[in-house]
Amino acid sequence: MTVANQKGGVGKTTTTVNLAAALSMHGQRVLVVDLDPQGNASTALATEHRSGVPSVYQVLVDDLPLASIVKPVPEMPNLYCAPATLDLAGAEIELVPMVGRETRLKRALNAFNSMELDYILIDCPPSLGLLTVNAMAAAQEILIPIQCEYYALEGLTQLMQNVELVRVHLNQELNVSTILLTMYDGRTRLAAQVAEEVRSHFGDTVLKAVIPRSVRVSEAPSYSQSVITYDPGSSGALAYKEAAREMAYRGAAVTGA
Ligand code: ADP
Ligand code: MG
Repeated sequence: MTVANQKGGVGKTTTTVNLAAALSMHGQRVLVVDLDPQGNASTALATEHRSGVPSVYQVLVDDLPLASIVKPVPEMPNLYCAPATLDLAGAEIELVPMVGRETRLKRALNAFNSMELDYILIDCPPSLGLLTVNAMAAAQEILIPIQCEYYALEGLTQLMQNVELVRVHLNQELNVSTILLTMYDGRTRLAAQVAEEVRSHFGDTVLKAVIPRSVRVSEAPSYSQSVITYDPGSSGALAYKEAAREMAYRGAAVTGA
């Protein structure tokens, strides 16, 4: 599943990390692929990503096997991370002349079958460039986090057009399966209005669980943790656990398992 939205700061990384943590604590085996050169997901998952560490960059550009860069997340038994380093910023350009430039992540994931994963969550950079296209080409599902603020829906048309292009040309299986409302501030009417607008637009694609704005959520990454482990009883942790439960239930309903 690809977590995408070309706007920055809408909660992509936070959502990737916390859903991954919540799913893994339910016994699901989860891999997070960090596709953002900033490496914020790697940081939050305590996975080394300083320059020089083999990362998704070498997988995409030098054909390094994914298995050689995937690391277990400390103290999280079912959770793994493929880290991003700053080199990945260059991949956006270096991939351009390469054969199969849009499907290099897909190839790497297909060749990677060593650990019987239940979920792969891909954290995208804030752009619709080749890295995000690689993520979309590799996934069956897209999760779009939407921040409950002004201009929340801005850019969504363009995102949907890109999803459609990838579906037609690269990946027929792709669909926007999940929308998650993030940074919801229950004290403002604006947040409620945005939530209502998104629900009327996207219907059941929108998860019932809504992630509240919470300081604990924003603090957790500086302790290299998800909010689920940092403060399990906090409103943010409970909301992400509920979102993960909903997703797992939907997944089960789809596959009949
Ligand atoms: P993106 O990956 O889309 O750029 P992030 O997940 O990094 O967005 O979130 C942007 C900022 O907002 C970060 O500083 C993060 O800690 C903070 N943040 C995300 N979700 C919440 C939330 N529910 N409550 C408070 N702060 C949040
Ligand atoms: Mg991010």
